[in-house]
Amino acid sequence: MNTHLQILNGCPFNHHYLLILEKDGSICFINAQWQAALRTEVKPGSVYELMDDSCASKVKELMTRISDREGKEASVKLTFSNFLGKDDAFEVKFYSFSNNGRIKILMQFFDITDQIRLSERLLFEFENSPDVSYELDIKNKRYNYVSPACFEVFELTPEQALQTRPGALDYKVHPEDYNNVHTHFRNICKQYGSGKKNFFIRYRIFHSTKGLRWVIDRHTVFYNPKSEPFLLLGNIRDITDAHTAYEKSIQNEKLFKGIIENSFEIVSLIDRYGTIKFVNPSVEPILGLKPEEIINKNSFSILPAYVHDEVKRTLEEVLRHPEKMVESEICLQNQTGDWVYLKSKFANYLDEPHIQFILGSTQDITAQKRYEQQLKDSSANLNIIINNTDDPIWSVDKDLRLIVFNQAFAGMIQQFFGFKPEIGQAVFDAIVAHGHPDQSECRNHFLQALTGLKIRFERVYEFENRHVYMDYFISPLVNAEGEVTGVTCYGRNITDKVLMFHRLEEQNEALRKMNYDLDRFVYSMSHDLRSPVASALGLIQIMELETEDTDSLKHVHMIKKRLNRLDALIADILEFSKQRKDEFLPEPVNLFELIEEVMETHFYKDELPGLDLSVDFSADFPVCTDRGRLTKVLENLISNAVKYRDNAKANLSIKISGYSNLQETVIQVKDNGIGIADKHKEKIFDMFFRATNLSKGSGLGLYIVKECLDSMQGSIQVESTLLEGSVFTVRFKNHFNLDLVKQLNESDKNHLDY
Ligand code: ADP
Repeated sequence: MNTHLQILNGCPFNHHYLLILEKDGSICFINAQWQAALRTEVKPGSVYELMDDSCASKVKELMTRISDREGKEASVKLTFSNFLGKDDAFEVKFYSFSNNGRIKILMQFFDITDQIRLSERLLFEFENSPDVSYELDIKNKRYNYVSPACFEVFELTPEQALQTRPGALDYKVHPEDYNNVHTHFRNICKQYGSGKKNFFIRYRIFHSTKGLRWVIDRHTVFYNPKSEPFLLLGNIRDITDAHTAYEKSIQNEKLFKGIIENSFEIVSLIDRYGTIKFVNPSVEPILGLKPEEIINKNSFSILPAYVHDEVKRTLEEVLRHPEKMVESEICLQNQTGDWVYLKSKFANYLDEPHIQFILGSTQDITAQKRYEQQLKDSSANLNIIINNTDDPIWSVDKDLRLIVFNQAFAGMIQQFFGFKPEIGQAVFDAIVAHGHPDQSECRNHFLQALTGLKIRFERVYEFENRHVYMDYFISPLVNAEGEVTGVTCYGRNITDKVLMFHRLEEQNEALRKMNYDLDRFVYSMSHDLRSPVASALGLIQIMELETEDTDSLKHVHMIKKRLNRLDALIADILEFSKQRKDEFLPEPVNLFELIEEVMETHFYKDELPGLDLSVDFSADFPVCTDRGRLTKVLENLISNAVKYRDNAKANLSIKISGYSNLQETVIQVKDNGIGIADKHKEKIFDMFFRATNLSKGSGLGLYIVKECLDSMQGSIQVESTLLEGSVFTVRFKNHFNLDLVKQLNESDKNHLDY
């Protein structure tokens, strides 16, 4: 063995398989590694015996290429099956060298099976990963490799991607992120460095079907010995889901924080010893303490001693029953000295890995408590009122069973029916059972009220031989949903009122009778008085004819005057009582004819020289009233206008005007007489009132007018100025109806066309 070979055998490459070959492939040297692998002393003659035909042909071709001179090298990757006990790949390197003027070949085998496996595994990972892996040749600005996920993420096959230049996909980037991405890549492809450097960038891209996607692009830049970046290996991952979840969680956290910070309730996190680990700002307006004054302090040191028992009980219960929501109510004086009611709920989250605290929420229920107290007070007051009234008040449910009643009701039932009512009792059944069968009418009213009606009715009870009258108001009880759930009843004892009414009726009856008797008495008295007066007047007439003594004649005159007045008074009284007795009988009246009649009956034209009488009346509907009474009214008004004329004035003027419509008739009688003083205007309608000494009448005339108008459903008014004259206005109901109009004869109708 020559020195070369000895060196080779002991050289550091000894763990590689080494062969030295002649040009034709025959083996000159085989190293110990080979020897061990072959497990035989027999050395193969040619290298080609060690491999199959396809490998052999590759090696032969290579040997020919490099064996023409020394110093040449070549390499080839060969895959063997069961070669040197292995199945896989070897990289075989060939070097030509000269030994004693002859060209020899050194053949070195490197087992690259693991390397190939690794790179295949990596490739597999790249090819099947949802991430886009890529290799960018920075110097030449082109992609060396792009993994298939490129299609899913960028909608481009790897082949298409390889055709594109870096930056060609920028249009896919969200405009808001574009500048960032662009600057980032430009910088890292320009900056110098050594070895390799890692970078990442997050940005949004558009996807035609999935919409906006968030990606993270992680990459390593490799620098050459001149510190220039030359290669970029990158990985792009779609992180939309994670990002959305993250954003959502941030939003949730913000929301949660917002809710907690703005909540009116005190939200607290407490540990198992009662130490407060978190509390929101609501604690300040309620307790007068800032969160920082409370956090990390124990509840017992913050809260006053008088609530410690309740706090202890609550904490123990929360710890003992982690599954339960524990409630607690305390009342304490806060820092500003106000008493506050606090209602809290605690949930045990000590074993919840994300929380590990007791979560408390505390409400200030002071206002509610006060309201409840007020409600209690007012309902207590109401109860006092209800129980102190003598009026029975009660309510029943849909089955007419007693829900509630006051003492007066209990008293009434006891008094009328002889038993004590009880809550839940079917009250009508109980009354019937106690011997009062007649309850159906009352029960029916209640049943009607159950349909939603409000009812009022009266009942009479016989009790200790006297009658008791009750007035009942019943109304449905309606709940918040608008459903009728029962009936409430309020009763009132109206016995006194009813008895009073009865008494009044009796008195009225007695009065009516008395009036009747009085009328009869007045009538017969006046009637009886009139004939002696008439006889006396007759005798006076004889005396006037027979007596010549002037003094006696004067006296006789005076007697005659007095007797005439007495006669007129009796005539008026008779007229008045007659008129009161007369039934009111409405009929169509022709006002013109009536006025003419009055004038003819009572006034002789000779007595009234220069009388200026005018009638101006418009009748849309015939005047329909009691003719007798209307005659009395007109007679009195016209005769007064005549009686109280002003002699200082040349002519007496009487103007009668007015109208009649469907509802009423209005008649005005205006004179230019002496007028009436203001102080007398109120009284002239009183019985026997005379406003002037000039009056020769009885003072009954206007009283009779008023009485007539009362029966005619009418009224009278006066306007008057002393020395100027008076206007009397009467208005009364027009009892117009078709039947009455039919009674009008043709001529009457013609008369209506005034
Ligand atoms: P008498 O019988 O006195 O006329 P009346 O009741 O008719 O009674 O009238 C009451 C009083 O009213 C009269 O006394 C008179 O003073 C006054 N009076 C009534 N009508 C007129 C009138 N048209 N002008 C002035 N005074 C009148």
